[in-house]
Amino acid sequence: MGEKKKKIIKTIKVDVDKCNGCRACEVICSAFHAEPKYSSNNPARSRVRVVRHPLRDIYVPVYAGDYAPAECMGRDQYTIDGKEYEECAFCRASCPSRDAFKEPDSGLPLKCDMCESDPYLSEPMCVQWCLNDALLYETREEEVEEDEIEQQEEVEIGLESLANKYGLQKVLDAVSRMSKKD
Ligand code: SF4
Ligand code: SF4
Repeated sequence: MGEKKKKIIKTIKVDVDKCNGCRACEVICSAFHAEPKYSSNNPARSRVRVVRHPLRDIYVPVYAGDYAPAECMGRDQYTIDGKEYEECAFCRASCPSRDAFKEPDSGLPLKCDMCESDPYLSEPMCVQWCLNDALLYETREEEVEEDEIEQQEEVEIGLESLANKYGLQKVLDAVSRMSKKD
């Protein structure tokens, strides 16, 4: 057994009932991640997207998660409190079946990084810009095995060096081919 180490878990809690679909979160996320920073904004480049159907009173912020090389065999569709949500509405994956969470020009996957590129932020930008308090940022400490953290770091360093050498798209294509062989 390895030694225990503290790890910070960051969470954004979403209160769907408070969201009014204003899309400020999308605007600021895309501006914060623009190159140079704040030089443009385009919700299509945001790492949070709001599922929005005003006539049905549906506003659901969904955060971009991991890249999925292949689409699912089936689709989820939810009905909550009599409101029917579209297929895959709550899915966080950047997957081949849809345009969500893909960089519009390159098609590269987008993923929420909790705005970690700026270590001085007290809260992620989308949380700061949500004037309706629909997004709440929380952190907590958890104890994990030191080995687990080291393995994660090694995998990330390995992937980063491959992406630097061959380009992210080639690495993603290779992972996609490998997953299809499984
Ligand atoms: S900024 Fe807040 S209220 Fe506006 S769409 Fe995003 S989560 Fe909803
Ligand atoms: S936490 Fe940062 S990266 Fe993630 S969606 Fe919000 S603004 Fe974008």
